[in-house]
Amino acid sequence: MTLPLPPDADTRRAVAPVICYPVDSLPRPDLALYAAARAQATRTAATRVPAREARAFRVAAGQFFRITCAEGPQVGDLNLFHATDLSERFFSGKTRALHGTHVSTGDRLWSGFPHLRPMATITTDTLAWYGRDGFGCAVHDVIGTRCDPYTHHLLSGQDYHHCCHSNLTRALAAETGMAPAQAEPLVHDVLNVFMCTGFTADTGQYFMKATPARAGDHIEFFAEIDLLGVLSACPGGDCGAEHSSDRAICHPLQVEVFAPAPGALAGWHPPSPNGYDRTHGL
Ligand SMILES: [Zn+2]
Repeated sequence: MTLPLPPDADTRRAVAPVICYPVDSLPRPDLALYAAARAQATRTAATRVPAREARAFRVAAGQFFRITCAEGPQVGDLNLFHATDLSERFFSGKTRALHGTHVSTGDRLWSGFPHLRPMATITTDTLAWYGRDGFGCAVHDVIGTRCDPYTHHLLSGQDYHHCCHSNLTRALAAETGMAPAQAEPLVHDVLNVFMCTGFTADTGQYFMKATPARAGDHIEFFAEIDLLGVLSACPGGDCGAEHSSDRAICHPLQVEVFAPAPGALAGWHPPSPNGYDRTHGL
């Protein structure tokens, strides 16, 4: 049975939206402290992520890591894990619910339940100038999950082995010594670094356009806890036309780790796991 159209349909549509998760009560990162620590930090490691591949890197709590479009516009798909507890992983969906569809300086990357704590805080974003364009697009999204061979097969009937999902699986397996079949279920929804995306106003579909990133553009993070990162240089390149193919022009990405001077983070402590008592009403 279908209910008749309500006579006050327009009135119902006109109800003002309410923000689901106001963040006024969220503890704010001390960006001034982070900036002071970063100013005296020294580079301790660098990893080059080849085009259409992924690589792992490690960052200790209290260090910074920077992802750079080293040679040209290139989208990256980022997974984050607690360095010694791979069950604590980046939670794209809740990060989106808290900070919106795209993230930039001051936003944090949150881990999944039951941890739900900041894994990293964005401290620098050279693409912050882009804002939100006339299509509703912005940069660095937490809406796109990752390109993967399953959806590709579903839509095209073809097999492609260098989707970000597969790249992340291979790199995580190589870093941890796990079999790929063990590593694959740990790969999770990503932060789409440098990707320029939105939802169409009429159909609500996920869409992309070429990233505005140029060689040298970068995004930098403060590691709130010990991290294992895995970054894929997406086979879509700048993601201006397609992904999941070898046709797009792709570039490598660079990851660098910076360690602050001793004492530079006086008073700072890694965030504790979430305080909920986990009794779930029992
Ligand atoms: Zn991808």
